[in-house]
Amino acid sequence: MKQGLVIKSTGSWYTVKAEDGEIHNCRIKGRFRMDGIRTTNPISVGDRVDFEVENEADVIVNIHERKNYIIRKSSNLSKHSQIIASNIDQAFLIVTVNYPLTTTTFIDRFLAAAEAYRIPVSLIFNKIDRYRPNDKDRLYDLRHTYSKIGYKCYEISAKQGIHIEQMKEILKGKINLLSGHSGVGKSTLINKIQPGLDLKTGEISEAHAQGKHTTTFSEMFELDFGGYIIDTPGIRGFGTIDMAKEEMSHFFPEIFKKSQQCQFNNCTHVHEPQCAVKAAVEIGEICMSRYESYLGMIMEDEDNKYRI
Ligand code: GDP
Ligand code: ZN
Repeated sequence: MKQGLVIKSTGSWYTVKAEDGEIHNCRIKGRFRMDGIRTTNPISVGDRVDFEVENEADVIVNIHERKNYIIRKSSNLSKHSQIIASNIDQAFLIVTVNYPLTTTTFIDRFLAAAEAYRIPVSLIFNKIDRYRPNDKDRLYDLRHTYSKIGYKCYEISAKQGIHIEQMKEILKGKINLLSGHSGVGKSTLINKIQPGLDLKTGEISEAHAQGKHTTTFSEMFELDFGGYIIDTPGIRGFGTIDMAKEEMSHFFPEIFKKSQQCQFNNCTHVHEPQCAVKAAVEIGEICMSRYESYLGMIMEDEDNKYRI
């Protein structure tokens, strides 16, 4: 029996990189039920598996316990989920304060989802070469807001190659999820980091991703200097995640910390008296835009779960 890492999945075939570096094409035999979720595709990229080498096709016989995974539901009502990727070491949201604008609502939803999935997450501000003074002010504000909470913030220009070496250091040896609105420069960044990949940039890449929305195919790009980047066509962020209203504040670290001082231990920080969170927002200790994102998420229609 051998051990390896699943680096590509087509739904019926899995590409596994064994510990000795050899590539094996594997199938699965029997049934897997992992983590108590019903899934149409039990194995995903990022899974560590045991497999038997056989004549016809190698066979995956065991999946190691996952430290985390991200899922996509087939539909809102469906109990069936598809695991998109597992064992993600870190996630990055690529943010542009202009060309195009990334809103704080979008940033905060992404960060909250990462917290819910227990995936360490950082922000990469791209296109710093293009910003005018107004944009720069906005960038410094955001950087201040998020680094104060504890999120790492990086500033790069993928196009001009600014701080790319630093990015490589950070990605090295890890399984990385890169995300961001279309047009923020994700493909440009990946191409700079790993030139051989030759990802399409601009409009074409977007049309391509849209068309593949229902595919079960996902893949990790191996980095020459060690590590992987997850690319899941059609998924710009995290897929679907169910976050209960009551536990929403757990996914906003600074709100959660402050909530220990609220009068009621089940305080939702909306209407309750003696709310430490609201008081902190008033004096600017907790950023208003973060609080607004939090409110937006708890007020949202129950049926409309977070598709980030
Ligand atoms: P994606 O949709 O996130 O993959 O974005 P692309 O990589 O396709 O980039 C979208 C557009 O932004 C392209 O025209 C890129 O040339 C441009 N772009 C990407 N990174 C930068 C950057 O750092 N500075 C500037 N000025 N333009 C960039
Ligand atoms: Zn409160």
